[in-house]
Amino acid sequence: MLIILLGPPGAGKGTQADRLVKKYNLVYIATGDILRAAVKSGSPLGQEAKAFMEKGQLVPDEVVVGIVSERLTAPDCRDGAILDGFPRTVAQAEALDQVLGEMGRKVDRVVYIAVDEDELITRLTGRRVCRECAATYHIKFNPPRVRNVCDQCGGELYQREDDSLSTVQERLLVYREQTTPLIDHYGREGLVSKVDGNREIEKIFSEISSILGAGSP
Ligand code: ADP
Ligand code: ADP
Ligand code: ZN
Repeated sequence: MLIILLGPPGAGKGTQADRLVKKYNLVYIATGDILRAAVKSGSPLGQEAKAFMEKGQLVPDEVVVGIVSERLTAPDCRDGAILDGFPRTVAQAEALDQVLGEMGRKVDRVVYIAVDEDELITRLTGRRVCRECAATYHIKFNPPRVRNVCDQCGGELYQREDDSLSTVQERLLVYREQTTPLIDHYGREGLVSKVDGNREIEKIFSEISSILGAGSP
């Protein structure tokens, strides 16, 4: 099963993916997490990506397509994966189709999580992320049990630099211009299930679960 989580920054893709990978036993591929780890390690990939990410702009297509292609062809992805934050442009979606086609595979479902823009700003500016395992929290809507400590691994929580108001506004603009065309791109193939993301985390999760099917596939 190959699932794409599509939606604006702050829609709750990572939050839902965290629950879905456990329920369906899928590999989680989040390009944002992979890029942030590369920036932290100072690798050539990280050095290339850093300036784009700080400004809230997209890292060039060839770079992210390379990352995802390599990851998807690894043996552990044979049974399925959830893509979070990829594809983000039509060119990325076309490259993904090609890579999957070469493996005799295809996208099974695109779950589009729609959220109102003012809610996105509140979510992103209140987001906190674990330094160790990248789990995501919100200071009001999804707080950790202990302040600034990750429930899952005990790691320290921090605020992403690109979750500042001005960068959030730039990211939302980039999303509207470059990523929303994907709704039509996959819609034409009948692959899109739209979910109302302006609700409680657990409600959204049960709706996505019913879209994907009850048990472990
Ligand atoms: P994305 O991966 O789409 O950017 P996240 O999963 O990181 O989004 O969620 C963004 C922020 O909003 C986080 O702080 C998260 O805890 C919070 N959040 C996620 N889903 C909901 C929801 N349904 N209601 C309220 N807050 C949410
Ligand atoms: P969000 O919370 O907005 O969903 P991500 O963690 O997915 O954020 O992405 C953070 C940043 O990483 C993006 O603003 C962008 O610079 C870069 N990035 C992540 N995925 C991609 C992608 N598929 N294409 C280009 N850039 C990406
Ligand atoms: Zn953690």
